[in-house]
Amino acid sequence: MTAPATAVDVALVGGGGAAHCLLHALAGAGVALSVAVLDPVSHQGNDRTWCFWDRGTSPVEPAVRRRWPALRVVGPDGVAHQLAPVSYAMVRSADFYRLVRDRCAAGGLDVRWLSTAVHAVRPAGDLVRLATDAGELTARWVFDSRPRPPDRPGATTLLQHFRGRWLVGARLDRSAATLMDFTVPQPESGLAFGYLLPVDERRALVEYTVFSRSRLASEEYDVALSRLCDRLGVGTATVESTEDGVIPMTDGGFARRAAPRVYRLGTAGGATRPATGYTFATMLRQATVVAARLAAGVEPVPPRPYPVRHLRYDAILLRAVDRGLVDGRRLFTDLLTRHPPARILGFLDGTSTRRDEARILAGTPIPAMMRATAGWLAGTVRR
Ligand SMILES: Cc1cc2nc3c(=O)[nH]c(=O)nc-3n(C[C@H](O)[C@H](O)[C@H](O)COP(=O)(O)OP(=O)(O)OC[C@H]3O[C@@H](n4cnc5c(N)ncnc54)[C@H](O)[C@@H]3O)c2cc1C
Repeated sequence: MTAPATAVDVALVGGGGAAHCLLHALAGAGVALSVAVLDPVSHQGNDRTWCFWDRGTSPVEPAVRRRWPALRVVGPDGVAHQLAPVSYAMVRSADFYRLVRDRCAAGGLDVRWLSTAVHAVRPAGDLVRLATDAGELTARWVFDSRPRPPDRPGATTLLQHFRGRWLVGARLDRSAATLMDFTVPQPESGLAFGYLLPVDERRALVEYTVFSRSRLASEEYDVALSRLCDRLGVGTATVESTEDGVIPMTDGGFARRAAPRVYRLGTAGGATRPATGYTFATMLRQATVVAARLAAGVEPVPPRPYPVRHLRYDAILLRAVDRGLVDGRRLFTDLLTRHPPARILGFLDGTSTRRDEARILAGTPIPAMMRATAGWLAGTVRR
């Protein structure tokens, strides 16, 4: 029996980062599936820049614009530390979206891009019914990445909010990438840092990033960014474009399976690491597993984004920063610079050993972290 035109094997509800990661993996897995991507927004241009840590190569290598083997961290005291060797990669979204579309076409994946919002997702036996602006569609499997609050509300929720400028015409030292510069203006609570990623001698991304409960007024980002650019000696460069963003940092819980045959991906599925906001590498990792499960004909439930243990560390760290129990700037500087990068990388991607985690925790301000742990435990018991 042939499927009606409105029936597909896989529906991606939300066509942003997570959906593109899954399409990339599906095209690579060579599965003969029909896929619909449903999103009122068409993602094609440079609407975001993704940076991530990896081990020197990535599944999306053709879209990697630049990779840095070393990064600088400037502590609150102005002392610069070198983080090396590392592999920190940058992907601009336009390159990634193009790579995904090309790979889908080359791999023969039957993808329909539907410019429509989805209003309801209802499992019905072996199918899932989607109510959209453009009518009903049915799918065998649904991956939903529409932004949503956590299923289990968090005890601590911060926002990582930032504004970046793409600069051209500056004279830059290509090797001087700065991951965090804590000498920028600080919010009343939380922390802020500058970020400078030169992609070549003439072009760089500069960002002012804040971890706090609420966003700033628009002009505050501009003032901080202008000061940062002046201090970095790139104040006279031309601003080619700007990039604003807000990433939720929460110890709330996200379900991976929303209903029979309906799974959550991306930030909506808990792929955003609470203490850092990094998401992209995890979305790629989950996508590879989901695609392999679909190819093998088994239930394509996304794997756990991070081990429970790491989420607990993050909950405590978030609490310590949010409640002002630690100087967040000092804490992040020490975490990043007092350990071999491989240890920190393992911690960030959730593959560290308990021994390495013990070493990392031993380097934090113990009394403050004990207070944060006690508060988190009490809150967990109450909830
Ligand atoms: C500016 C910016 C920069 C970032 N940089 C990094 C980075 O450097 N490194 C990193 O690891 N992470 C980064 N992140 C975090 C994370 O990687 C991104 O937010 C990523 O896009 C998350 O993918 P997603 O699919 O979960 O969400 P999104 O990409 O936001 O996709 C969700 C989609 O759902 C759609 N949608 C909403 N409502 C509906 C509806 N009713 N029906 C259908 N579709 C709907 C939206 O239009 C959107 O396209 C960044 C985030 C932002 C905002």
